[in-house]
Amino acid sequence: MFMGEFALIQTVFAQRARALLEENPSAFVALGIGDDCALLNGLGSHEQLAISTDMFVEGTHFFAGTAPQDIGFKALAVNLSDLAAMGASPVGFTLALSLPTANQSFLTQFADGLFELAQQAQCPLIGGDTTRGPLNIAVTVFGRVDRTRVLRRDAAKAGQDLWVTGHLGGAALAVQQLYAGELPAAPSKQRLLRPQPRLAMGAALLSVANSALDLSDGLYGDLGHIARASQVDIEIDLALLPLDEILSSLPTDAANHLALCGGDDYELAFTADVQARDAIVSLGLQQGLRVTRIGHVRPAKIEPRVICLDSSGVPLSLEWHSTLSAYEHF
Ligand code: ADP
Ligand code: MG
Repeated sequence: MFMGEFALIQTVFAQRARALLEENPSAFVALGIGDDCALLNGLGSHEQLAISTDMFVEGTHFFAGTAPQDIGFKALAVNLSDLAAMGASPVGFTLALSLPTANQSFLTQFADGLFELAQQAQCPLIGGDTTRGPLNIAVTVFGRVDRTRVLRRDAAKAGQDLWVTGHLGGAALAVQQLYAGELPAAPSKQRLLRPQPRLAMGAALLSVANSALDLSDGLYGDLGHIARASQVDIEIDLALLPLDEILSSLPTDAANHLALCGGDDYELAFTADVQARDAIVSLGLQQGLRVTRIGHVRPAKIEPRVICLDSSGVPLSLEWHSTLSAYEHF
């Protein structure tokens, strides 16, 4: 029997990990499996250590033939994005690398992309491991965050607004085109290969938002994680989605589908009280980053779920929703 990615993590690892923690409660583990980062106590009374690991595998996370600079940049970007999703600031990262050959030109260019972002984010490389094998990059990032304000997936509350940063669907268009053997235009290729982790916005949201995550697998599926962790329904007003301008020539349905299911946006979705609206708009203006209110958090009717509304604010049918799927690796 084969399982989906999230069922696999739950049944094989998360349940046993939780049982172990319950047996031996640790004063250090504040949050284990299930969020963008784990949280550890031990940084003093105000802060927690946020940790996240993401692998970056040829053929799964990037197409064979991707420029080494882009591989280096994105391997770190997707990890920093998980720090941003908790509102954490980077402290350092480790790099575990498996490579078919010690090709110096590849490695130098890979390191150029990696350090370009490490420098931009002021996040030093502090260790790692290098071995022979298929091309596979595992980065672990460490960050620090105010423990009383950290943006967890289990903190959304009915009545709050749902927001998203930036524009959605541009990276997914590039993926679709690459699978079809087409060459994506420069802007969508840029969206796919050079996602900008929203670290400054994540940190600023600590004072105005409650829960957040980064969009790696598509808005619809990713918001399901907040809905389940917080035991709420989340409504998305499709007419308000900030679609990437690259999608402007597509029919609205196709563009919405890319934004909802496509993944690889690495924007932040977050929930905040209605009173925070003006403050959030100001933050967006200050940071030169679009922030868009795209929906609401509601009390869960039965099972917590994500519900898309049509342009008149009416929930779309269950059948319509069954055409949406989040990206899963299995
Ligand atoms: P993200 O997309 O934010 O990086 P993932 O979807 O990769 O998160 O993972 C969901 C949750 O499951 C995270 O909390 C992650 O730490 C945890 N997780 C994933 N794989 C494993 C594993 N093999 N062992 C333990 N925890 C895991
Ligand atoms: Mg994440």
